[in-house]
Amino acid sequence: DVVAERPAKLPESPVSAVKISSRERVIFPGDDLTKGDLADYYLATAPITLPWLANRPISLVRCPQGRARQCFFQKHDAGSFGEHVHHVDIREKDGSVEPYLYLGDVDGILACVQMGTIEFHGWGSLVADVEKPDRLVFDLDPDEGLGFEDVKKAAADIKEHLAELGLTSWPLLSGGKGVHVVVPLTPEAEWPAAKSFCERFSRALAEAEPERFTANLKKASRKGRIFIDYLRNQRGSTAVLPYVARAREGAPVAAPVTWSELRDIDSPRHFSIRDSAELLARATGRALRGWGLADQVLPDV
Ligand code: ATP
Ligand code: MN
Ligand code: MN
Repeated sequence: DVVAERPAKLPESPVSAVKISSRERVIFPGDDLTKGDLADYYLATAPITLPWLANRPISLVRCPQGRARQCFFQKHDAGSFGEHVHHVDIREKDGSVEPYLYLGDVDGILACVQMGTIEFHGWGSLVADVEKPDRLVFDLDPDEGLGFEDVKKAAADIKEHLAELGLTSWPLLSGGKGVHVVVPLTPEAEWPAAKSFCERFSRALAEAEPERFTANLKKASRKGRIFIDYLRNQRGSTAVLPYVARAREGAPVAAPVTWSELRDIDSPRHFSIRDSAELLARATGRALRGWGLADQVLPDV
């Protein structure tokens, strides 16, 4: 089945054949965290990360000299990552065909870490059929003055509006400033229909409560509002994936939470790469069982 599945049982400690060089290099200065620490985090959490990360086109945020130096967003590569990082040819808007990256296992994750990767971002569709999204993301981007309370309220309201349309959704702490409301889909509709739905949904919210929301990308229209970034939901867009580390202060990670947990969490950077044991325990525990899994399709609106 195409729906991501949680592994029934987690291996005690995953192993990888990939050799990590410069393990002592500090890549989170100020947090005293090294490339080795990041590799250990991704190795430990691979069993809970791979159900989301594997088999979809990805982009990487690479920071070879650490997060405080130059980082770059990488979409394509012709082969410099080695045998554990796979390629899928995808047609671009202009008709050209580019090799996108995807991973299948823990070695793929660590091969990317070895190449200076900190963040993994995924398409909302699988390599098996890139034209049909298996996940929508409403990326809530608050204006600078707003607090996390406003973001949480917005996420909860969006959840209710989606539920009215028959869609179940889950919150993901972005590890940055916001929350992503994640809507799994059984891949049936194609990207234009998904984008159209998300745009109409977001614009309707912004029209109903213009003092709280905007669906307009322009920074100027964000003043005191939350931008509902529906543009994550177009062919070729990416969003950060669950359990991915962010190249930000504190080495936060994008973390799945439940709606009821979200009410008591006071920061989208609540979890960090120091929390691998807690994240593993949570992911296999009762509260997060079924997180992000639903057999549902785009509503007919
Ligand atoms: P935050 O909560 O701080 O907004 P975020 O991950 O949602 O964190 P955004 O800036 O809102 O960050 O970006 C949303 C998504 O857009 C990212 O997760 C990423 O997948 C994609 N993205 C970000 N920067 C780039 C970039 N330079 N090129 C292409 N896609 C990007
Ligand atoms: Mn965002
Ligand atoms: Mn955004």
